[in-house]
Amino acid sequence: MVEGAIPTKANGIYCKVGGQTAIEMLKECAADAAAVIAIGSCASWGGMPSTISPLSDSSPTGSAGVADILGKPVMTIPGCPPNPYNFLAAVVHFLTFGKLPELDKLGRPKFAYSRLIHENCERRAHFDAGRFAMEFGDSGHRQGYCLYKLGCKGPETYANCSTLGFGDAGENNWPVGCGHPCIGCSEKGVGFQKPIHQVAKMLNVTPPLQYPRIVEEQGKAASFASAAAVAAVAGAAAGAAIMLTRNLGLSHAAEEAERAKAAGKSADDKAGA
Ligand code: SF4
Repeated sequence: MVEGAIPTKANGIYCKVGGQTAIEMLKECAADAAAVIAIGSCASWGGMPSTISPLSDSSPTGSAGVADILGKPVMTIPGCPPNPYNFLAAVVHFLTFGKLPELDKLGRPKFAYSRLIHENCERRAHFDAGRFAMEFGDSGHRQGYCLYKLGCKGPETYANCSTLGFGDAGENNWPVGCGHPCIGCSEKGVGFQKPIHQVAKMLNVTPPLQYPRIVEEQGKAASFASAAAVAAVAGAAAGAAIMLTRNLGLSHAAEEAERAKAAGKSADDKAGA
């Protein structure tokens, strides 16, 4: 088990214990290990200490992840902090089956890191409907709207933060649940590398078949009109992607105006009926 980044510059002198560098200790301990696990983003790929200095083209200490030093397969549990349940489940898998769980190309166990945070986020319905917080503390932010425009990296970060809470403090105890954009801490090249408020790259644009309601009335079947809308949009990914792009481009004021207009129209329709 390795925690923390490994400084490599100047023969590793930036981390020494009892006269031994972290590189030497790592190589000695890993030589006969049955499995090597890097826990946290720092041990996984360098994390915060590997952030490139604006004064040079590398981090001040040349910090790197465990796999880069050892040159052999390492299971990584990235996150800042990493979710303890992912670590525990991976260790129990090893103890039970005598082998590590299936890993992705970055060494992350697939059971925890195969889906984008964005795919299962509790604010996803707002994203699909084009409802975004534009500033911290604005009306959208206070109503729990999507944090994409504040720089949320959920659309380019693989992790199960949106489905598995951290620790025992209850649900919603993760950044997006608390109102802060995901910073992509579990994703090499995103966390601590991209500016926090830079908008995320959309890795997987799966346009919605229809825009969901945030609070669905129970016990009611879909109306003929909404079913027809679903049928019309299904399969027309290009059209829906245009809609998605349009939503991402709307200014907050335009969003508010559009919602007010739609609400007025629906009241008029009801009156006419
Ligand atoms: S952009 Fe962020 S806040 Fe919005 S739905 Fe995706 S993961 Fe959730």
